[in-house]
Amino acid sequence: MTDPNNCIFCMIVDGRAPSFQVSDDELTLAFMDIFPVAPGHSLVITKQHYSNIFEVPPNTLAAVARATRRLALAIRSELRPEGLGLFQLNGVAAGQTVFHYHQHLIPRSSGEDLKLHTRVRGDDDELRATSLRLAEKLATEP
Ligand code: AMP
Ligand code: ZN
Repeated sequence: MTDPNNCIFCMIVDGRAPSFQVSDDELTLAFMDIFPVAPGHSLVITKQHYSNIFEVPPNTLAAVARATRRLALAIRSELRPEGLGLFQLNGVAAGQTVFHYHQHLIPRSSGEDLKLHTRVRGDDDELRATSLRLAEKLATEP
């Protein structure tokens, strides 16, 4: 299990590492994936360190679902993707690479191969611009 002291997502939550933040509430945080497989690829994470679905308490999982739905609506209205994939991986065998619970939101286009990871880092200016757009949209929603 990842030690929370060395966990990149814990570092983002407590400000030891930067992120292009989109939303923040009592139990969750959302920010842009810095290796996006599509423009708008974002993550909703638990603020507390849980490695996977098997560790997250149900009320926290519900908070992730609420934050995910709000962000999905903001992505739909701001970025107008043809589709939106929600993915969540548990364990190395499933392809999980960061062992801190998170939900992927990945805009999808028809005909595109399904790919969950890339080694190509996103452009900082683009990630920042998208995060600001989505954060501003969310700020106008109840
Ligand atoms: P998973 O493979 O489901 O564990 O996904 C982990 C995701 O976290 C990958 O899509 C990575 O690109 C992403 N990621 C890793 N480090 C960072 C970071 N510092 N900021 C934002 N996203 C990250
Ligand atoms: Zn963590």
